[in-house]
Amino acid sequence: METLGYYNGEIGLLDELRIPMNDRACWFGDGVYEAAISENYTIFALEEHINRFFNSVALLYMTPRITKIQLAELLNTLVHKLDSPAQFVYWQMTRGTAPRTHAFPEHTTPNLWVALKPFILQDIYQKIKLITVEDTRFLHCNIKTLNLLPNVLASEKAKQAGCAEAVFYRGNRITEGSHSNVHILKEGILRTAPKDNLILPGISRAHIITHCGKLGIAVDETPFTLEDMFGADEILISSTSSFCMSASHIDGYHVGGKAPELLRQLQDALLEEFHRYTQSTVH
Ligand code: PMP
Repeated sequence: METLGYYNGEIGLLDELRIPMNDRACWFGDGVYEAAISENYTIFALEEHINRFFNSVALLYMTPRITKIQLAELLNTLVHKLDSPAQFVYWQMTRGTAPRTHAFPEHTTPNLWVALKPFILQDIYQKIKLITVEDTRFLHCNIKTLNLLPNVLASEKAKQAGCAEAVFYRGNRITEGSHSNVHILKEGILRTAPKDNLILPGISRAHIITHCGKLGIAVDETPFTLEDMFGADEILISSTSSFCMSASHIDGYHVGGKAPELLRQLQDALLEEFHRYTQSTVH
């Protein structure tokens, strides 16, 4: 198959599979999701993605019909149905199917969606341009919910400005990107926003922190500001699909470019780990 959609056991092409209108995703975005990538039909960091997924599920008081192990087995089976060995692997759980009422419906069980499509890894070493956007999101950004409207608007604003990503700030504090985490390198230290309710605890963020440990780079997880970012040696954006990319411009101002070796060490380590994992892990 070129693409694959899965809905509670039913399988079809993404463009063709139909979803009931009463799925609460349609009315309320009442669900959570997860996104990973595969290479060589192997989903990178699957266990970490599934753990975060079940954490998001629990924070929305949903009771899954599937265990972590069953979900991993299902995803590992589905990726083999695609022609392409390199995939964007997306799944979500919604509260269930029921007539539209805000409070949780009594007699429903969660729906499981999976979407697979071919994925091409972009050049992570290229420099990207960013814009800043005020963070007007709610206070549950640690939950990977389907409610992404402010992120969508910010991402579109970045696109219209010819930029790759929008960086959110709340007050003076940098929170994260519209679909990434944001970090800075300054005087040999990696600064990254703390894991609180204002950011998604990124899997790539966690890997960056681990690699910093191995490379002897100190990590500071206290909030950093707009000024810190503009004055940083390097500005890094991390996500599952882009690993870790660095910025050359923010809001049209030239930024970063002052710690290229450190940056390269981190990027090499992330990419090397990905290739090693996806070439060696057998499912
Ligand atoms: N923050 C937001 C808002 C995101 O959408 C993403 C991408 N999933 C991230 C951070 C980065 O998370 P990860 O490294 O797990 O992809």
